[in-house]
This record gives sequence, C-alpha cells and structure tokens, in this order.
Amino acid sequence: MGELGSIAVLPRLKRVGESARALFRAALDLALPRLCAVCREPVEGEGLCPACWSKLSFISRPYCERLGIPFVYDPGPGILSMEAIADPPAYQRARAAVRFDDISRALVHALKYGDRLDLAPMMGRWLSQAGCELLAEADALVPVPLHWRRHWARRFNQSAALAAAVSKGSGVPIAARALKRVKFTAQQVGLSRTQRAANIQGAFRVPPDGKGEVMGRRLVLVDDVLTSGATVEGCAKALLRAGARNVDVLVFARVAEPGRTSI
Ligand SMILES: [Zn+2]
Repeated sequence: MGELGSIAVLPRLKRVGESARALFRAALDLALPRLCAVCREPVEGEGLCPACWSKLSFISRPYCERLGIPFVYDPGPGILSMEAIADPPAYQRARAAVRFDDISRALVHALKYGDRLDLAPMMGRWLSQAGCELLAEADALVPVPLHWRRHWARRFNQSAALAAAVSKGSGVPIAARALKRVKFTAQQVGLSRTQRAANIQGAFRVPPDGKGEVMGRRLVLVDDVLTSGATVEGCAKALLRAGARNVDVLVFARVAEPGRTSI
C-alpha cells in the first residue's frame, strides 16, 4: 500500500513540475516580451506587430500563372508575363507569399541571421496559402539546401525551417535527401543576373540515396527569397535531370518589378 501510495503521488508531482515550468515560462515572457521582427516593438502572439503586418505586400491574383509575378492590371485568365514567354524557367510554376521589400527583408533576415525561428510557423502559413494549388498536387517538399560549410556556420537552414512549417500545415512530406549543394558558392548579393547563373552552375545535385525521393514525383522547392531565380532554376534542373515529374517553386518573398511584367 505504501508503495502504491508513493506511485500515486508521482503524477501529482509531475503536474506540480509542469505548472512550475509554465509559471517560469510566463515570468520569462513578462521579463522578455517578444519583439516585432521588423520594428522591435513588443508584440503579443506572433513576432510581427499589426502596424508592420499591414505594410506587408501580399501577392494575389492577377499574376503570371507561370512565374507568379503580379500584374499591374488584369490581362485575363491564363496570360503569361513577358519574362515567362521570352525565357521560360525549368520549373513549372512559382508562387510567393509577399513582395520582397523592406518589411519582408527584415522578416527574412530575422529568420536567417537573428535566431528568430519563432517566425517560421507564421511565414510558413503564408507560404501555404500562396502555394495551395501547388501543394494540392505535390508529392513532397524540397527545401533549397545550404552547403554544409554555410549550414555549419549558420547552424540551421532557413529554407528547411519554412518547409517544415509548410509540411506541418499541409501534410505534404519533406524529401530531405532529394537535393545536395555540392559547390560552395559566393553569396549572390551584388551579382548580376548572368553572374548569378554562372555562380550557381553545377551547385546542386541529387545524391544516389536521394534518387528514390525524386524519380517520377511532383516536387515543390521551398526557399525564403526569389531574386533572379538562378538558385531555384539550378535546383529544378538537377531534380528534373534525376527524373522528377514536375518541379514547382514556393518562396516567402520574391522580387517583383512592376512595369516589366505586363504583356
Ligand atoms: Zn512592427
């Protein structure tokens, strides 16, 4: 009986421990309020304040069905942008949640360099909304990989964090072995479009143990930002060479230059 009594006490102790931890967390939250990732004002809930949220430029139709670049006016259903016709990418469709501007750049940088992994679920939700058509047809998500040296220095891959959030919300699994970055490339920042394409040449490969995750499958590449598209183009080519049935692209933010995009 004495033994049984002490066993019965255990769940109660566990509960006490849990509530103590919850109290500690609450105290910590009070001491260290979560800050808006953009303006650094304290926020409740997720890491973006209502004022900064309202400044984000969410992308919605009308946009080029191929590249996902927003049109300044509605040219009618199914119309492609000039870029998509003149220089069609290897991937099938690209979608982005928001335009790349000062606000979305701050979010991307906070996730990438600022240890703000708490932003990933919110950003992943917006990605899932922007890519709902792509995700409905997808077999797996492929995060754009980092070279191991960069991964080691940064400790985590922001594309993988976004892909994990999208996977959690959509149920589409992650093909973690599908793609490898085999070349350590210079940062793309400051390079021209041609330099970016040359920089990324041969950078990605489907390793032998990743072929099964690629062959005959419909894949969605996930990345944080699409600038010239050279990175996702390099990834898509490697996946298609290895037998992927279709490759789409889903990014958090994309550079969209109005004026150059209408047909
Ligand atoms: Zn703010």
